[in-house]
Amino acid sequence: MIRKFITHVFGRKTPVRSGEAATLSAQKHGICRDDISSGSRRVVETLQQQGHRAYVVGGAVRDLLAGLSPKDYDVATSATPEQVRHCFRRSRLIGRRFQIVHVLMGSETIEVTTFRGHHDQQSSPKAQTDTQGRVLRDNVFGSQIEDAARRDFTVNALYYDPVAETIIDYHHGVADLKQKTLRMIGDPKTRYREDPVRMLRAVRLATKLGLSIDPEASRPIRELAILIENVPPSRLFDEMLKLLTSGYAVKCVQQLRVEGLHHGLLPMLDVILEQPLGERFVMLALEKTDQRVREGKPISPGFLFATLLWHEVLSKWESIKAGGERPTPALFLAMDNVLDLQAEKLAITRRVASDIKDIWALQPRFEQRSGKRPYTILEQPRFKAGYDFLLLRAESGEVPAELAQWWTEFMNNDSETRAAMLLPVKPNEAKKRRRRKRTPTASASE
Ligand code: ATP
Ligand code: MG
Repeated sequence: MIRKFITHVFGRKTPVRSGEAATLSAQKHGICRDDISSGSRRVVETLQQQGHRAYVVGGAVRDLLAGLSPKDYDVATSATPEQVRHCFRRSRLIGRRFQIVHVLMGSETIEVTTFRGHHDQQSSPKAQTDTQGRVLRDNVFGSQIEDAARRDFTVNALYYDPVAETIIDYHHGVADLKQKTLRMIGDPKTRYREDPVRMLRAVRLATKLGLSIDPEASRPIRELAILIENVPPSRLFDEMLKLLTSGYAVKCVQQLRVEGLHHGLLPMLDVILEQPLGERFVMLALEKTDQRVREGKPISPGFLFATLLWHEVLSKWESIKAGGERPTPALFLAMDNVLDLQAEKLAITRRVASDIKDIWALQPRFEQRSGKRPYTILEQPRFKAGYDFLLLRAESGEVPAELAQWWTEFMNNDSETRAAMLLPVKPNEAKKRRRRKRTPTASASE
């Protein structure tokens, strides 16, 4: 069956723009086999020893050529998924539509994909696209030349062979990278229609690599931006998460604006950019996130989403309080309201949602600087994240800088200085607390 597919694909005229592949010396372009991860190298070597063709492909080759260190490694091969499984004991098949093999090498997971066929009317009849041209099925094995043609940008269609130490370049990707151009393979309009996420990828990759998007590829974006609405939310979410944790979130978000990709399409971006009050706060948060990513520090999705949605919570909180609700229950209602609204669109997991709530719920408590309360707050498991969040609020001008300063000193000082820092209990506060102690039904949580 598979052979029939391959023969079918081999047999027809391929719709590839550039014909011949250039085989380049990898060393001349500054890549040697020690630069790639040991796992990906072993996977390629093993597949080749078993008589298959195999290469490191895509983002890893591009990043190495650009002098960046790759996040992960993909391998493309002529071997079918079953054949790949036979070569590696620690491997598993994933994906139903188009099977990919995950090969485990030590702590690394290498994604191994069989060369895929190109989409044209023959291999991809109308039934496999939606009415806008979005490809719904993508499950045809193909030749290497076709595999290259179905990749999105020329710089992403490079194949590195660590055994021969060569780079196979079908679409002048190496030259484009040198000229700092992100060029689409094929007709950009068709390619965006097939998969609108490519518009977001264009912005993210151009920003990350310091490339300019070729005018041919950037021109149709404004007109086609609306197609992003058809993309399943979970996929959009994954792409947004990649963008926000790329280390270039601020630049990416600015560039999305330039390309007209922010408006009305992505719930999260609307949240970020459509509220002037929150914009400064969110931009500061993204700057900090970028800094952490570049320093190799981990990013907490909970913290990130807590910042993105905070000003939504603030305005909801205000309106619930204005309706007569007391501050604390009003905050919890506002938190649930915002999270319920966003959770589906953003595919926020329960764990992340609970982190977000912990961070938000701590914020009004930071106002409490008398009696035993500050000590209780210090012991909260999410104190550090809540405190970092408070610093951002102070920096953005939402709360007085003095409040953040007080907490910085309080957490860093010895017990004697801490005690001296406590603010006097306000007379009406003291009365309230006494009353609460006498009433058995009152909550003693604070
Ligand atoms: P990064 O890893 O920095 O996110 P990447 O280009 O490696 O960037 P992946 O999602 O890991 O992105 O994809 C690996 C490769 O698969 C890409 O380099 C590209 O060749 C191909 N690819 C990924 N997404 C698409 C797409 N939407 N359309 C066509 N080809 C794609
Ligand atoms: Mg990648």
